[in-house]
Amino acid sequence: MAKKKLGPLAIYKFLPKINCKKCGEKTCMAFSSQLIEKKVKLSQCPHLKGDKLKELEELISPPIKEIEWGTSIIGGDEVVYRHESTFFNETSIIIDVHDEMEELELINRIEYVNDFAFERIGIILKLQGISVRNKSGDVEKFKKCVEIVSKTCSASKNIILCSWNSDALKGALEIIGNRKPLIYAATKDNWGEIGKLAIQYKCPVVAFADNDMNELKSIVGVLIEMGVKDIIIDPGSSFVTDTYTNVRRSVVKGDEKILNCPILGIPMSIYIESDENAELSEVLYASMMIAKYADMIIIRNMEMWALIPILTMRQNIYTDPRKPVAVEPGLKVIGSPNKSSPVIMTTNFALTYYTVASDLESAKVDCYLLVIDTDGISVEAAVAGRQLSAPKVQKAIEDTELENKVDNKAMIIPGLSARISGELEDLSKWNVMIGPKDSSGLGKYIEEKCSA
Ligand code: SF4
Repeated sequence: MAKKKLGPLAIYKFLPKINCKKCGEKTCMAFSSQLIEKKVKLSQCPHLKGDKLKELEELISPPIKEIEWGTSIIGGDEVVYRHESTFFNETSIIIDVHDEMEELELINRIEYVNDFAFERIGIILKLQGISVRNKSGDVEKFKKCVEIVSKTCSASKNIILCSWNSDALKGALEIIGNRKPLIYAATKDNWGEIGKLAIQYKCPVVAFADNDMNELKSIVGVLIEMGVKDIIIDPGSSFVTDTYTNVRRSVVKGDEKILNCPILGIPMSIYIESDENAELSEVLYASMMIAKYADMIIIRNMEMWALIPILTMRQNIYTDPRKPVAVEPGLKVIGSPNKSSPVIMTTNFALTYYTVASDLESAKVDCYLLVIDTDGISVEAAVAGRQLSAPKVQKAIEDTELENKVDNKAMIIPGLSARISGELEDLSKWNVMIGPKDSSGLGKYIEEKCSA
């Protein structure tokens, strides 16, 4: 049976109801609402102890186990479809290195991961870590490679140790075990030794079975019996993402308990196949796996053309669909405007704002950008819903004292908001110019209409 979606009242019943504020929330009810949104932790209420705490932990535990791995938290999802709720804990993107790489290439790849940062709609997107592969099969080579990783890989990044050889993993853990790397992998042949290493070093471990669910369940089962706490599953990368979907759906519905673990996907397995477009295929499979429940993926390709679509896909999937991404409204300055510079109006939907701002910057236009608070709704929808209206724009003109900034009382509004132009002119007494529907045309429009 699927777990019922919890409301704040169900949690409130277990709380002390004394509103002491020690958790940082004003009331116990506010704490229970924040707990549902995963914005606070149970440990923040110092009064929760003993059986009450255990019961509450059980009550709020998501169907997919949440695992703390180094600087990341993975898993913890509660639903199959994003429209039912949000997806928590975005997929960790991990870059592959191996022990047959030249030292310089190895260091370059690790430093690239350390420093990588790409800004999209005001959010900095990053990579989460390094996967060190024992490609050579040689224990000493692997240890040497892990030593370099240990010295070079930033403490803010996580590490996976990948080998089929338990001696190689043991040697690597002696070097880097204090960083709690993820151990890959426990199989039907080595689960005993790998389980012992995971317990000894208190590391999470991946259970692997290639497209054999019964085998995967029995490996997970024996690891749990041994006392391994944090298990991630790799159901095999035959690029059949319906395997992932079946696992996730059956766990969330409550039909399957033992596989309630985060999923590791390995799009770079495509390089084993004789695929002449392997680099492109890797990006496609990475995107598919992110969309279909992989909690972490390992990829090889670090070119920007490959990383940007993967990171964009992740950002889109893990953005809460109930909350439009918004920027601060107000008057923004693009370039170095003066009293005769044009004024452009837009909404505070982040995707719209950053697109307009970047189009104006690319066109090298010095101007003022008046950003209206439309609750993060895009232009056309905001006009329809009255979040973007002539009185609201008029108020923004007054609040930002725009009349003192420019001599010409002229404003370019988005083409998609043309229907408020008449009312806006009447209210504001500004000359309202209807700009292009697509902001990529703004540069040309301004050049033609606003040049002296
Ligand atoms: Fe309520 Fe506990 Fe928060 Fe105090 S610390 S307000 S008892 S939830």
